[in-house]
Amino acid sequence: MINEIQTNFYRITLRMPYRLKHVHAYLLAQDKELALFDTGLNMPGAYETLEKDLASLNFSINNIRHIFLTHVHTDHCSMAGLLQKKTGAKIYLSAAAFEEYQHFRQADSAVKQLKKFYARQGMTSGQIDMVIEEYEDIRGIITEFNADNYLQNNEIREFGDWKFEVIFTPGHAAGHTCFFFRKEGFLLAGDHILPYIAPILSPNIFDDNFRPLATYLESLNDIEKLPIATIYPGHGNAFIDLKERLEEIRLHHKKRKKMVFDHLNVKPKTTYAISHEMFGSELSDFDKFLALNETLTYLKELQFEGAIKEGMAGDVLVYTRIENTG
Ligand SMILES: [Zn+2]
Repeated sequence: MINEIQTNFYRITLRMPYRLKHVHAYLLAQDKELALFDTGLNMPGAYETLEKDLASLNFSINNIRHIFLTHVHTDHCSMAGLLQKKTGAKIYLSAAAFEEYQHFRQADSAVKQLKKFYARQGMTSGQIDMVIEEYEDIRGIITEFNADNYLQNNEIREFGDWKFEVIFTPGHAAGHTCFFFRKEGFLLAGDHILPYIAPILSPNIFDDNFRPLATYLESLNDIEKLPIATIYPGHGNAFIDLKERLEEIRLHHKKRKKMVFDHLNVKPKTTYAISHEMFGSELSDFDKFLALNETLTYLKELQFEGAIKEGMAGDVLVYTRIENTG
């Protein structure tokens, strides 16, 4: 489905089988040339759907000259390589996003790291194998692409009469980028800010020092400073009440962090055990994995704040509350 939002600016909605059911890509037109922002999920029929959507506006896939990626999660980038192969379109993303994409391509080292990382959080090898299976499925659909150049933070890019600013917004993904159109007042937000769910945060399995929550909250501050009239997110409807939404998301994380803290005491617990206590066993295996990532995100922050401490019990990491003796 494709909708013209304003003259020469379009929203393309593509289906996907995941929980969110759909993902948006955005399109700018300048005469017959097109710039695509994100690509949708590379699932059967998706390419043909995009072809049909473009044909309904008298464009073709071959009119795509540029592809800008907000981040390298499959639902946003997995068709990029396919489109580049067919059209020769240039692809732009942040260097950090490209690095994430490359980690993803180097399966062996990523799988090894994944096993090590999650075993330390108290997951069993059976549970980890299940995650790796999902991960291999996901990896298979990302088509290979080359980056033509890297986006730089705060640079201004031009496409025909269009002008937009590149705003780095790490958090949901380490290399996440938003695109801000100052004159028109709109932000292509990717998954940085969504209308009805708080974007998922996950640890970086290659970098123990990465603080997803702190990084994410800082990136929220960065977009709050911009004179944004309308947010166009990767999922869900466009919205205008940015400040209100920012407050809701900040409050959500504050509450969740408190909830994690409330599950800790002097008895050492693994991330898996805490997550299991908090979210229960009703979840599907993959949702359990997402819940564990979320729990770990808050544990990292609580540890940084000095409220809890991390220790080792055998080969696994455990967390305890730091008792306030004062
Ligand atoms: Zn995402």
